[in-house]
Amino acid sequence: MDCFTIDQVSKHDTIDDCWVILNNNVYNLTQFVNIHPGGKIILNYAGQDITSVFYSVHPISVIDKMDILNKYDKYKIGELVRYNLRNNINLTNYKKFRRTVNKEFTKKNKSFSILNLRGGFGTIVTLFILNSMVITFYIVYIRKMNILSTFILSNTIILTLLYQWHTSCHGALLKKPLPNLLVSLSGPLYGGISAIVWKREHNLNHHDQINQPTDTQHFNKYIRLSPQQEWKPKYKYQYLYAWCLYLFSSFNLKQQMPFQYKTKIKTKYYYVHELMLLFHCILFLFIPIKIYGFLKAIKFYFLMGIFQSIYLTIAFIPNHETLDCEGAETDWLKHQIKLSNNLRGGKITTFLFGGLNKQIEHHLFPSVHQHHLNKITPFVKKYCEQNNILYKEYSLYEVFKLHYKKLRLLSKSSYVFKN
Ligand SMILES: [Zn+2]
Repeated sequence: MDCFTIDQVSKHDTIDDCWVILNNNVYNLTQFVNIHPGGKIILNYAGQDITSVFYSVHPISVIDKMDILNKYDKYKIGELVRYNLRNNINLTNYKKFRRTVNKEFTKKNKSFSILNLRGGFGTIVTLFILNSMVITFYIVYIRKMNILSTFILSNTIILTLLYQWHTSCHGALLKKPLPNLLVSLSGPLYGGISAIVWKREHNLNHHDQINQPTDTQHFNKYIRLSPQQEWKPKYKYQYLYAWCLYLFSSFNLKQQMPFQYKTKIKTKYYYVHELMLLFHCILFLFIPIKIYGFLKAIKFYFLMGIFQSIYLTIAFIPNHETLDCEGAETDWLKHQIKLSNNLRGGKITTFLFGGLNKQIEHHLFPSVHQHHLNKITPFVKKYCEQNNILYKEYSLYEVFKLHYKKLRLLSKSSYVFKN
């Protein structure tokens, strides 16, 4: 059988030539993309290692078929030359845990699979209310552009995106793939953020290996957030300047525009996605410039970005605030639990943070809608108890204190990765 390196596989990332890595095997899925029951989502991960995504999003029945029938062997073209940590991850415990949770939940809930829990009528009503609010506050903003109208619109947009965008990009908001795809276009439209880049950076790179060098969403050249990141003199005062940089975090997401992301995957979704980004520019830049002039329009677009960054910082910082992240666990289940933490709170917190407050459960079950993540909590807590793993849950105050402590520790050259 042929052997390939990760670089060789990564070059096959087009709709006409789509290779992926699964369990250290290389598959050519160019033909399969069109008949994949879950749609063309595979194209988002073309040229990448999809092992953990494959096992964390597919229903157990699909995984069983895959294991027993080896149905897709015909697409296998070779093996991967071992190259880094990602290939050494062990999913055995995770697969067992996922199966146990699903089995016990199904027993208690009359054959209802936990892995099929998506949003229902309540989600549709909430989507309608939130999106109507965005439209209303946009009209108010355009009619009277001031600090208050900018503040209200900015925060409504982030609340809406946290509720619907992250979950829809995971395909977990509603049952069918098409509504999820349509809702995922709200990111480019409201926020000017690329959903194509997000799916690759978040669903794959971040979810696969939190805090590892492959986690391109977490690794940052301006701030040292992991002991694995090489220390540089510029990080010396990061515990002071990081907070200023966070004020611009929404611009960091916006700059991941598709013309920077050299995607070769030109599907129908890609063109609609580009159109949404263009609409974003028309709605939030061109129309305000026409009405209020260039300087005022740019000033308020910038202010909107700052307000959005503050909300995003409060929502993103509490999720992986680990100080014990020196050792990468090869056991994927342990790694996901140890390097994630939750934010204390009830239904209102979940609503305000779009389920990101239940980060541990979300990382283990990314295909489950945020409304149902609390149903998984007892299983995770039990597993943590049995295996002597700390289930981390903090208040917002505690987690920001921890973040400051982490920024301070990692600003020192002496604090390095030991394995
Ligand atoms: Zn996620």
